[in-house]
Amino acid sequence: MHHLHKILTSLPSHVRLVAVSKTILPDVLMEVYRSGHRVFGENRAQELIAKQPLLPADIQWHFIGHLQTNKVKYIAPFVEMIESVDSLKLLKEINKEAAKNERVIKCLLQFHIAKEETKYGLDIQEAEELMAHPDLPSMHNIIISGVMGMATFTEDEGQVRQEFRKLKKIFDDLKDKHFPDNPSFCEISMGMSDDYRIAVEEGSTIVRLGSAIFF
Ligand SMILES: *Cc1c(COP(=O)(O)O)cnc(C)c1O
Repeated sequence: MHHLHKILTSLPSHVRLVAVSKTILPDVLMEVYRSGHRVFGENRAQELIAKQPLLPADIQWHFIGHLQTNKVKYIAPFVEMIESVDSLKLLKEINKEAAKNERVIKCLLQFHIAKEETKYGLDIQEAEELMAHPDLPSMHNIIISGVMGMATFTEDEGQVRQEFRKLKKIFDDLKDKHFPDNPSFCEISMGMSDDYRIAVEEGSTIVRLGSAIFF
């Protein structure tokens, strides 16, 4: 049985849960769905494209992994939010494909906050370049809704906390500078099964949990 209920009751009401269903078979995902949950996350385009048609249409899918521009067209018809935007090129492609589908797709800017080299994401300078780009104001089929990041995979809680603080600070600075009167820019997606308690203490509004729910 899944641990959804226990987790949901432990989260403050302003924090939303994305149930990360990567590698989880549709039958098992449906157990969580039937308990009322509707927000699910996948990190591989192929897997999401294969699963989505097998599952109820009212699922709000969040894409949370590295996304190649040539895959955007397959998920644009249905995806609710793309949490892993790490380039202007990707943002443009999402806008284009969302427009074709007459949709608006919420996007989070993914930041590199961890020590590990392998994790994707923007740094502050890259984000400022993206925000300053002259094409951005004409992209009407995306909404930049906040930021996302992953902390270093480590036992060192102090390190993890410091990285989440850094992401919160990045969010606050972007909000002040670029979105002062825009309530749509409101999400800080941080926290996975091993570190979401710390993330929530540091200001997370979205946690992305896989193993804590399904295993
Ligand atoms: C897999 C994954 C998660 C969930 O990880 P768990 O440790 O299983 O909770 C969260 N975010 C991203 C980007 C992931 O790829």
